Amino acid sequence: MLTLTTLNNASPQDFVSLLDGTYEHSPWIAERAAAARPFQSLAHLKHELARVVREAAPDEQLGLIRAHPELAGKAMVSKSLTAESTNEQSKAGLTDCTPEEFARIQQLNADYNAKFGWPFILAVRGPRGQGLPRAEIITTFARRLAGHPDFERAECLRNIHRIAEIRLNDKFGVTPTLGDQVWDWAEALAVHSDPGFKEQGQLTVTYLTEAHLACAAQLRQWMLECGFDEVTVDALGNVVGDYHGTGDKRLLTGSHYDTVRNGGKYDGRLGILVPMVCVRELKRQGRRLPFDLEVVGFAEEEGQRFKATFLGSGALIGRFKPAWLDELDAEGVSMRKAMLAAGLPANLESINALQRDPARYLGFVEVHIEQGPVLNEMDLPLGVVTSINGNVRYLCEVTGMASHAGTTPMDRRRDAAAAVAELILYVERRAGSVPDVVGKGLEPSAVTVGTVGMLQVPAGSINVIPGRCLFSLDLRATTNEARDALDADVQAELRRICERRGLHWTLTQTESASAAPSDPAWQQRWEAVVVGLGLPVHRMPSGAGHDAMKLHEAMPQAMLFLRGANSGISHNPLESITNDDAQLCVQAFQGLLESL
Ligand SMILES: [Zn+2]
Repeated sequence: MLTLTTLNNASPQDFVSLLDGTYEHSPWIAERAAAARPFQSLAHLKHELARVVREAAPDEQLGLIRAHPELAGKAMVSKSLTAESTNEQSKAGLTDCTPEEFARIQQLNADYNAKFGWPFILAVRGPRGQGLPRAEIITTFARRLAGHPDFERAECLRNIHRIAEIRLNDKFGVTPTLGDQVWDWAEALAVHSDPGFKEQGQLTVTYLTEAHLACAAQLRQWMLECGFDEVTVDALGNVVGDYHGTGDKRLLTGSHYDTVRNGGKYDGRLGILVPMVCVRELKRQGRRLPFDLEVVGFAEEEGQRFKATFLGSGALIGRFKPAWLDELDAEGVSMRKAMLAAGLPANLESINALQRDPARYLGFVEVHIEQGPVLNEMDLPLGVVTSINGNVRYLCEVTGMASHAGTTPMDRRRDAAAAVAELILYVERRAGSVPDVVGKGLEPSAVTVGTVGMLQVPAGSINVIPGRCLFSLDLRATTNEARDALDADVQAELRRICERRGLHWTLTQTESASAAPSDPAWQQRWEAVVVGLGLPVHRMPSGAGHDAMKLHEAMPQAMLFLRGANSGISHNPLESITNDDAQLCVQAFQGLLESL
């Protein structure tokens, strides 16, 4: 087996030959990476190889892509593949295609090559390294065939890095067993899904459904098997595991196990499973930490069934609103009734009793899948969160005059939709004018985003000038000041547009949340463990809200992000992580626990 010591001490020529076969017919990658020695970890080596490719000339990148064989192509049939490719294609069962599958793949190969001019690259051993099912390979092939050439080229390179990662694991005799455990748990937990979705193979777990209760029971059982000293399901359905330490203080961590409709397997759940595996390892080693570790699987974060979000984490800081008990779901079932049916007490006394005393806690940490494309684009497995964006949301209406599309001259119209169109372009420009430093290796200052996600001309007709236009506004920023400035500018622009056009407007604020900057000391601890793993620190804001945002109101908090595959897509069944990334996430969490 290859070791880092051997690699670090090898002559440049030997270094290249030791890594032979990692990147298909492309020794230049290892040649250039050799200068970055000594490598501190396998993750460091993998990252450096990817960096060389990212910084290579476009024709070199294309050459690397073209050095790969087609999937189940002529080279496989004529048995002229490299040993590595033969192993991968046969692990994915491509050598046993049915005649129909084989014909389908040949057609896709031809179409893909005609569109892009290079072979389709897919890491067919997949995110768990065991080989993707043929049906999934074919679906992925067809999906990517529809993509944009620039994106597709980058996606091919990312797949090449994943292929190289698995080849390196084989060379080094490394199996990411802790990451495998997280991945397998996430897969097993995803068998529970709400009726209507499960039948279609979709994952939906909303508050207190049968699938939701099954998830809670499963998490509870796993926590007991891991060796937590106490495991309870509390009055809201949060699954709480406590691993006793030797000191008085406690560290709180966790994330949510509910999902959006047709969601992914890792959103939320990763932040429960990663600390669980850490506790399992501590228990196996018979070790105790100098503090209690409290891992919470929050029952509800996504606000899918009832008009209430962050129920689980909100209750821990005493923010449960009594009126929520009377909220009705789409079927007219109240939260109170749903709780009683689930065997929960459904009274405010028990819910209020869940509030934690911040004085007893060191802080709250949460690991979460990034849910965005930044880390994936940068070939970085981990990112350190600097702040969770604050937001403000409005439902808005602009009123003009509906009139005849044929007879009303252009300079005498009071078109409500045209005014909103102007505003949308303004929001895009204004939010984008605060420099987006994410992904550019710079310190994030303020980053803003703005979206009009709903847009409607009620009872519109093809031959009528829109007299009314309804729309939504979602404005977010890394700081409250940047959010408020964006909000003020957007409102001022709306006023200007409407006054110029002679229109009336209303804005109804539906939500406002403060930005939650990470606690500097806790953020620093995450940064130190990332460095300890041999990876560069990338600091980034969180565009999405998380349970940490709630705990922020009561105690210091900081989050760690894990790269999502498939360009980081989330709230979507394509959400994906690799076992190797999950392994790094577990190691980061272990590092954090050791650092306290
Ligand atoms: Zn989440």
